[in-house]
Amino acid sequence: MEDNQQAQNSNVEIFCTRCGKKHPVYYKYCDQCGNLLQDTPPSSSPSPDDTFIKLVPYKNKEALISYYAGMLSIIPVLGLVTGLIAIITGIWGLQAAHRHPEVRGKIHSWVGLILGAGCILLHFVILFFWPPFSYLN
Ligand SMILES: [Zn+2]
Repeated sequence: MEDNQQAQNSNVEIFCTRCGKKHPVYYKYCDQCGNLLQDTPPSSSPSPDDTFIKLVPYKNKEALISYYAGMLSIIPVLGLVTGLIAIITGIWGLQAAHRHPEVRGKIHSWVGLILGAGCILLHFVILFFWPPFSYLN
């Protein structure tokens, strides 16, 4: 097991960025052109993708569905359906964000959950206790 891992590690190869020669990963300098070999990707600054995912959790589809379903829950009658969807997908979104923190979407899930639940409550209140605006009239 240990031998296997060591063999796998020594098989990792990196390419010289100047001349393109292939080297084992433990080589520090290229033996052909003397270029410093880097085993880490040169980009240390956060990519636009990372910044974007903080704002829109596009990898957490449940969270996004919950978010938009929550928004739609404001619409009368339809809101009772989308509110329920927002609550269910919001819970799924939170579970997904908990299992895989890199997908994010906690905020979107919570917004969807709260909007969905709040709107369902609001629609029921209007439906049953507010006759002038009641759907039943
Ligand atoms: Zn080289």
